[in-house]
Amino acid sequence: MDEVVPQKPLPVQDWDEIIGHAQERDRLVRAGGFPSLLFSGPQGLGKRLVAAWFGAHSNCQQPPAERPWSCHCRNCLLVMRNQHPDVFWMERAPGKLSLGVGEARELIHQLYLRPYQARARVCIISEAERLTEEAQSALLKTLEEPPDSNLLILITSQESKLLPTVQSRCRIHRFRPVEDPVLLEWLQARGCPLEAAARYAALAQGCPGQALQFWEQPALWEALEQLLDALQEIPGSSLGRCLELAARSEAIKVPGLEGRAQLEWILSSAQAYFRDALLVGSGATHVVHQHRRPQLEKLAEQPAKLQPWLVWLREARDYCTANVNTRLLLQDLFLKLRR
Ligand SMILES: [Zn+2]
Repeated sequence: MDEVVPQKPLPVQDWDEIIGHAQERDRLVRAGGFPSLLFSGPQGLGKRLVAAWFGAHSNCQQPPAERPWSCHCRNCLLVMRNQHPDVFWMERAPGKLSLGVGEARELIHQLYLRPYQARARVCIISEAERLTEEAQSALLKTLEEPPDSNLLILITSQESKLLPTVQSRCRIHRFRPVEDPVLLEWLQARGCPLEAAARYAALAQGCPGQALQFWEQPALWEALEQLLDALQEIPGSSLGRCLELAARSEAIKVPGLEGRAQLEWILSSAQAYFRDALLVGSGATHVVHQHRRPQLEKLAEQPAKLQPWLVWLREARDYCTANVNTRLLLQDLFLKLRR
């Protein structure tokens, strides 16, 4: 399998584990059941949790009148454990990277069956950007007019990959990053020391899921540091050393990612790092990799090089979607960055 991404939220104990998104949740409750919703925003923001919560809220036995919307009725508990039969997730088949027309048709078929018990059956498509165009087209009619008592929630971190006709049939909820102080406090409440929490919060850019990953999986933090050390060393390195750095970066073990997904991680991490160097060079006081400020200042000493670096990285990311040889792509990229 190429990528191990959880498609459902982890089981939670209470809805108050959702941080941020108060406005969006208010808006969802106020606006009620527009049949098709699209949740958009970066990965790790908590969109899946909010979708599960809204599925529970729509079926809650005693819906709380206001925030924090905490409830432990039977229905809410079943949704928290991912066991409610009428709040279900459209999932990728094991080993598959896309959601095809077969899965879409199966979903439509299910929606026309009677719900088990629910007032509102909620179907959540958690990586909607992975729907093939054919699958998206197959869903159009259902998105526009789902069978009675059904609500569809599409979740995506790449809204632009959805057809305009899909977007226009959904009410769009754009999720905003969680503010740094809130994220910081939340991490500390999970036992993370302040200094580390500040680092992770900055790196996560308002995405609690990503910040938590850094804290709970030290290997992810180590992987990132290894990569950034390698990138730092590239400019001006010898040819041999540069190829060594490419090989070393290719071999970095990133928890939960393999193959193309790992390559994508390398390239997007490098983009974020060099973008920071550019910002430091233009006098920014706060950047994502604040903990590597001295190193960033060193990179910023050659500002004329940074713009082309970012262009090459963007090009490399474009190639990345094609079936490309990781080693060759990294070697080629690193050799350009060396000059
Ligand atoms: Zn409830």
